[in-house]
Amino acid sequence: MSALRLIILALLIYAGYRLLFGGRKKDKRERKERAAAGESAAVSDILVEDPVCHVLVPKGQAIRLQHQGKIVYFCSEECCNTFIEKGTDA
Ligand SMILES: [Zn+2]
Repeated sequence: MSALRLIILALLIYAGYRLLFGGRKKDKRERKERAAAGESAAVSDILVEDPVCHVLVPKGQAIRLQHQGKIVYFCSEECCNTFIEKGTDA
């Protein structure tokens, strides 16, 4: 029982140490990387709705289809094909 407590205590100390010293450095680096990635990363994070299965997909990962002058987004090629097969009224 005491050994388990010691491990938990060690983990807590480690977590606290990381929070105080490691956390800040990592935060700064992540922010820098995000800034370098620019707007494209932010745009790819936007969720779009698949009109076939109504699942929300990140824009960057979605399958795109030009449809009646609009771009329609799908979670997979399967849904894209279903949309095409169903016709343009969907
Ligand atoms: Zn889908």
